[in-house]
Amino acid sequence: MRVRSGSFERGISVADDTPLTYEPLREDWDRALFIAPHPDDIEYGGAAAVARWTRQGKSVIYTMVTSGEAGIDAIPPEEAGPLREGEQRAAAEIVGVDVVEFLGFPDGTIEYGLPLRRELARAVRRHRPDIVVTGNHRETYGAGFLNQADHIAVGRAVLDGVRDAGNRWVFRDLLDDGLEPWGGVREVWMAGSPDSRHAVDTSDTFEVGMQSLHAHREYIDGLGEGGDPTDFLEEIARQAGIRLGCQYAVPFEVLSP
Ligand SMILES: [Zn+2]
Repeated sequence: MRVRSGSFERGISVADDTPLTYEPLREDWDRALFIAPHPDDIEYGGAAAVARWTRQGKSVIYTMVTSGEAGIDAIPPEEAGPLREGEQRAAAEIVGVDVVEFLGFPDGTIEYGLPLRRELARAVRRHRPDIVVTGNHRETYGAGFLNQADHIAVGRAVLDGVRDAGNRWVFRDLLDDGLEPWGGVREVWMAGSPDSRHAVDTSDTFEVGMQSLHAHREYIDGLGEGGDPTDFLEEIARQAGIRLGCQYAVPFEVLSP
């Protein structure tokens, strides 16, 4: 859903389709499942929001679709996979997340399809979250910045997997594994979406979010000179904060299943 240019109450016409102000995300929930394709994806902004939620006493669980084994040019996948799993666990711990699971799909070549939907539905039924958080499934991040294939496949499959999790007659083999349907997901939130209209205030947790990013030490080193995204992420969080009315914020697109 997009906001039409010129449709704001202030009557200001904008060049792009993004809103001038963000609505705050709801915080009347207890358990969130954050599903991401790769170790480091959550730390590109989302971790600061996670830190806020865990400080409020909420439970957040991370499900990583791959182990990020194709993410470091100089390190072969069989070494990089376990290394990156360790970095992800350390990053999670910093923001108060102690359950991190890895589904073992192939990094870089995830295919959207029934096997992926089934495993995501399985994760939703296992953890029974109120909120599912994931990344942007659209082709771009807006303004011509191309999204990545795994991100598009996973984001799309999360939306479907949430529905599948609630339907007894879809993926009936999950019932055989003792996993009853779970239709309790109230909203799906997509980080990094060009259609974001909501945000969460991360002024108090921006720094801890950055610490969790830097738990991905080998990965960031592997990006080489100028690869550290700290400044870039600070700028994005600051811009989002202006739209929410605080110092730093993380924007999300909100979808109701
Ligand atoms: Zn990624």
